[in-house]
Amino acid sequence: MANKKIIKQLNHQINRELFSAYLYMAMGAYCDEKGLRGFSNWFIVQVKEELEHAKIIYDYVNDLGEKIELLAIEAPAKSFNSILDLFEKTLTHEKSVTKLIWGLVSLAKQEKDYATENFLTLFVKEQIEEESNVRAIIDKLKFIKDSGAGILKLDSEFALRKF
Ligand code: MG
Repeated sequence: MANKKIIKQLNHQINRELFSAYLYMAMGAYCDEKGLRGFSNWFIVQVKEELEHAKIIYDYVNDLGEKIELLAIEAPAKSFNSILDLFEKTLTHEKSVTKLIWGLVSLAKQEKDYATENFLTLFVKEQIEEESNVRAIIDKLKFIKDSGAGILKLDSEFALRKF
């Protein structure tokens, strides 16, 4: 029942979720270069979540009997300035994803595609959680500033994060 415009945007969203995974993998690599395996683990769990988001949309398009069209995934940034920079860029990125999701919801409403509108509820909720989690980490990082002990404590905490 979904129209072509919506399928096109859902396929685009698969691409954005895969790009998110790629971006977080680049951030994980930066943490590994710094020897911060816990932070790297945090980002690699994030990679897995993004791959799952892409797969959820993939399954939905498939369930509609529509065509999955995979687009080129752009290269993520190659360098970052600091651990704080990673999370600030993560928040900026997640806000852009939230806008895309809201754009999709608006389109679904406009096209009276109730199934897609309902499907997207999961993503609307997910984005609130994503942004909130990252904001909390940014607050902590600002609080500990350049304290090595503070960074190492967070690193130990993030080593425990599981998908
Ligand atoms: Mg996502």
